[in-house]
Amino acid sequence: MFYNEHREDILKKLQTSRHQGLSSAEAEQRLIDQGPNELAQEKADPGWRIFLRTFKEPIVVVLWIAVALALVSAGYDFFVNHDANHGKASIYEAIVIFILIMVNAILAYVQETKAQKSLAALKQMANHHAAVLRDGDWQQIPASELVTGDIVSVKMGDFLDADLRWVTANELQVNESHLTGEVEPVQKTQFALTGDVPLAERTNMGYSGSTVVQGSGLGVVVATGMATELGHIAQLLNETENQKTPIEKTVAQLTKKLMYVAAGIVVLVLGFGMGKELVNTGQLTFTGIAENLSTAIALAVAAIPDALPVVLSIVLTIGATSLARNKGLVKSLNSVETLGATTFIASDKTGTLTKNEMTVTHFWSNGVQFQVDQNGYEPCGEIETMDNKVADPEIYQRFMLAAVLNNEASISQDSTGQYRPFGNPTDVSLIVLGRKADYQREQLLNQTGANNIEIVRVFPFDSTRKMMSVIIKCGADYKILTKGAPDVILTKTDQVWQQQQMVPVAEVKEQLQQQINAYAQQALRTLAVCERTITADQAKNAPQAELEQQLQLLGIAGIIDPPRPEVRRSIATLHQAGVNVVMITGDYAATASAIALKLGIITDADAKVMTGPEIDQLDDAELAALVPDIRVYARVSPEHKQRIVRLLQDHREIVAMTGDGVNDAPALRAADIGIAMGINGTEVTKDSADLILLDDKFTTIEHSVAAGRRIFANIKNFIRHELTTNVAEVLSLLLGVFFMTASIGRVSELTPVLSALMVLWVNMVSDALPSFALGYDEAERDIMKERPRDTQQSIFAEGLLSRVLVRGIVMGAVVFVAFIWAANAGFAPEKCQTIAFLTLVFGQLWHVFDARSTTTLFHRNPFSNGRLVLAVSFAGVASLLLTVIPFFNEVFGTTALTAPLYLAVIIVPVLPTLLLSGAKEIWPAIKWW
Ligand code: ADP
Ligand code: MG
Repeated sequence: MFYNEHREDILKKLQTSRHQGLSSAEAEQRLIDQGPNELAQEKADPGWRIFLRTFKEPIVVVLWIAVALALVSAGYDFFVNHDANHGKASIYEAIVIFILIMVNAILAYVQETKAQKSLAALKQMANHHAAVLRDGDWQQIPASELVTGDIVSVKMGDFLDADLRWVTANELQVNESHLTGEVEPVQKTQFALTGDVPLAERTNMGYSGSTVVQGSGLGVVVATGMATELGHIAQLLNETENQKTPIEKTVAQLTKKLMYVAAGIVVLVLGFGMGKELVNTGQLTFTGIAENLSTAIALAVAAIPDALPVVLSIVLTIGATSLARNKGLVKSLNSVETLGATTFIASDKTGTLTKNEMTVTHFWSNGVQFQVDQNGYEPCGEIETMDNKVADPEIYQRFMLAAVLNNEASISQDSTGQYRPFGNPTDVSLIVLGRKADYQREQLLNQTGANNIEIVRVFPFDSTRKMMSVIIKCGADYKILTKGAPDVILTKTDQVWQQQQMVPVAEVKEQLQQQINAYAQQALRTLAVCERTITADQAKNAPQAELEQQLQLLGIAGIIDPPRPEVRRSIATLHQAGVNVVMITGDYAATASAIALKLGIITDADAKVMTGPEIDQLDDAELAALVPDIRVYARVSPEHKQRIVRLLQDHREIVAMTGDGVNDAPALRAADIGIAMGINGTEVTKDSADLILLDDKFTTIEHSVAAGRRIFANIKNFIRHELTTNVAEVLSLLLGVFFMTASIGRVSELTPVLSALMVLWVNMVSDALPSFALGYDEAERDIMKERPRDTQQSIFAEGLLSRVLVRGIVMGAVVFVAFIWAANAGFAPEKCQTIAFLTLVFGQLWHVFDARSTTTLFHRNPFSNGRLVLAVSFAGVASLLLTVIPFFNEVFGTTALTAPLYLAVIIVPVLPTLLLSGAKEIWPAIKWW
């Protein structure tokens, strides 16, 4: 077993080297031999099943019934009635409805497979990466390309993406609860174990799916993909199913309700129609029943917005893709919808609101104040006392040494001579400071003889402890060097280095506190640097908590981390949009408050800053009363974040929360929109996030919120448009049924105002295409000047329903009037229906420009959306062709009109829309129409 063998033997066996890794050629070959490092996934539904799935949808079931009824009616015409003409019409109806069912299924199929692909592509972008050594160079590769023999480096916040044998382990703690059920992290080592050891106790192994919660390590991959322990237990790993978004659910519920309405109408109309015939003729004929049936079918089809669900999911998918283009990667369609409703954005300070380019500008050591010239990462700049005199290096020597040694960062020059930082930015700032004073970490660690310094142990920084330490051996002595947040460190400090001697901390505490506050008020991040002499035994065996106390303070650094310049504007925009922005930071309260003031998160320097320790003092009820008003949280730990999210949600706020560390994952999961950083974020946070900022910028959150709002507004617009059509169709048909009690001219009272096929055409073609184009619309108004929408409120509130009814009723009446007018003019039934049909089509094509606006269509440039103009033109021309091409005449029961009539059916239907909009211009105070 791998855990029994010495690590060198394993490296040899896997033909790899810990300093070179695999060669890329060898890795490529192994990837071919072993296959990608992935778990077998449950097979996606086969294509035919996706295709057939639509057949079960309620709308399609209605259409199937329509096909069946049309066939029955055709059979009756042919064999009982011997009316071949009529029978042929019914057959055509059945065929066309069948074709439409197929077209719908194909559309749904294309949409679904495309959506799956683009979501998969988005997920791919969010995939895990691993740091591996290949050809002697460290590189980031997709975790799926790992092969056995790869040397992998991991640190806190990383996932293990393959099974590893540890080669080195540095205070490494790993959470393996997914395999062992044990929630406590396990301490890892590199030493071989003897005998048969159960998985939970294999301390020199790392297993795929674990997370690194502490420390760092180097491991050699021993198994990938299905060969890993995870692969053994997870033969099939079920992906979470793609859930319907809230609007998709609303629309699904709506169509279901409309089905019942349709069923009711059908029964009513059949009853009424037969009654009508009975009264008129004194008998019930089968022809009469068949005529009534075809009106009923038309009505059933008219009542349901057939194309809506497909258009909706296509628009949401397009939305997700366009968000990703703007650097905001969403992992589910739900987030597209939720983003626009966000009311609170809780953001980390460092790196998101600030640049994370840290530079030491001041420090205090040995009782003396210093200032430092700065020049980015370039390690040149004078260290001076506050009166601009060159400082005596003797004074700050001990501070510098500790700052540089207790550090894991580095800088190096690239080919253009630019200095590049590596590692934790706070640490980088100290490395640069050290170089300015001629303290080079590498040199210090490479000295030989009595000056030899060796790092014995490292306790890495973590955001709960807010400290980091290393244990060093200088010659024969052992020391622990600790640095961290001054207010935390001071509680663990006994003595302070002052005028070249150690004095008790009580003597200078006041002065120190003043110093820290002075830095903080200049928006400087503060860091205390300490040391303590310890014994050899302590150095090797004592636990961290025991060593990080009784410290001797050597100095305090003031570090500037400039705010990102564009953030101030973003925050102002969000404030206008009614979104609250909250800063959450592990930094010192006064520093946080100074930066929050600079960024406009708070406008008053005395605004309340809530600190982690204060939060701990409060119970949920007390804290809940405060959270809506607090804008800055300082010195918080990741657990606090989770509590803040929860309590804000209790106030029905929609909370977006950023996080960067491994401990932030629970808070991100709890938030409505968990946000992770694409560049500097840990793999674990990316995994739990809903939105990944590909550029780590706060401004991307603002843009994503704006995009979410735009998409939602567009969806509302096309829902409005589609439903208006349905109301108009149903109404015109019903008016025909109820008010045409006797035949007019050549038109019998049983002739429906629109045939079922005409209704279907309007729903699926002349309406669906422009709706789809509405999904691409630009924002109507400055949507970022409005309050976030209330997610509890139905999308039909705020005038959507009343607008649909007003316009639908007016349009339906116009269509009915056109039909009656044509009948009175003595036209044949087909001609009357054609006139009604074109009146409806053009009525809707004009209305679409109105549906894009909550004010009136006069306020929007109709040509601003090229797709819409194209879709409208296409639908208009295609509908006209339907009336002139003989084949379609036969199938759809249409007929060609004269030129003046064509002109009339194109122009007259615009009047209701123009008049309604005009009336709205006159009475702008009335909002609901
Ligand atoms: P944030 O990310 O909100 O700025 P952090 O959790 O990174 O907060 O840091 C909190 C505090 O911990 C800082 O104010 C600083 O005093 C201390 N700190 C940060 N980085 C380090 C480090 N590398 N070593 C020691 N202390 C650190
Ligand atoms: Mg941080």
